[in-house]
Amino acid sequence: MKKIELHVHLDGSVRPKTISELLNIDLKEAFNLSCLDHQANSLKEYLTKFAIPLKAMQTKENLKRIAKELAQDLLKDDVIYAEIRFAPHKHLENNLSLDEVITSVLEGLREVPLKTNLILCMMREYSFTKNLEVLKLAKKYLNKGVVAIDLAGNEALYPVLNYQKLFTIAKKENIPYTIHAGEADGPESVINAINLKAKRIGHGIRAIESKEALKLIKEQNITLEVCPKSNLDTNIYNTLSKHPLLNLYQKNIHTTINTDNRTVSNITLNETYQTLKDTFNFTTDDFLQMNKWAIEAAFISPKEKQELLQLLLK
Ligand SMILES: [Zn+2]
Repeated sequence: MKKIELHVHLDGSVRPKTISELLNIDLKEAFNLSCLDHQANSLKEYLTKFAIPLKAMQTKENLKRIAKELAQDLLKDDVIYAEIRFAPHKHLENNLSLDEVITSVLEGLREVPLKTNLILCMMREYSFTKNLEVLKLAKKYLNKGVVAIDLAGNEALYPVLNYQKLFTIAKKENIPYTIHAGEADGPESVINAINLKAKRIGHGIRAIESKEALKLIKEQNITLEVCPKSNLDTNIYNTLSKHPLLNLYQKNIHTTINTDNRTVSNITLNETYQTLKDTFNFTTDDFLQMNKWAIEAAFISPKEKQELLQLLLK
């Protein structure tokens, strides 16, 4: 079926074959260094899998190729619209400018006939100044390939509220945003992200642990970007059957299905849907509902949403 993907990281979704070719290392080694072959003990361990792909993402040509290949992989999953995210500052080791990083990624995406937009990630471990640069970049490219900002990185070490000032600026500048919360950190991080006026939460699944969080999500029509395989890989749940997606869906919480990091988790979106169907008996109508919610929450204009909805239902 046709799908929308709202939560996929570029650096976590580089084909191992491409890493092998660009860094001139053995394919098996590239695979081992970029994919988890077991559950990580923590988000921190999971995050170590990004070092190798990032090494291959330091030139214009490589960024262009990697962006293009991700768009091709999304097409193979019957994705009709994707919001791809990445942190521009992670690609400056070879003296590229932030503008060159963004334009290279956009060029790569535009080579593939798929509607895509970028979300620029501020990082929890970055300084205020650096994250402010991301915010300014988003403003500069807003609706020219970039549609929003995000806050990524290790949730447990850096609470959402540390970034209040940045989101206040984003709100004032009319830059849409989503915030990673409620994965490594508990439900209070979801509450805090909503209080910072986020309309979408990256993961957010641990809201299930708090009535207050669930109430807020409902009242404020918040959409959760759920990435089930990723939550297993970071050891939030040890089997899919324990994942709260079905429970959240049954509570009529706006849940959407995403991969997060295709390479790190060694998964496609089609495989994600298949395992969810096998585990929770989701029907095509259930999946259709989640994709409608994804369109509703996409960082695009009402007219584009209408067009996308027609395409989804065709
Ligand atoms: Zn993520």
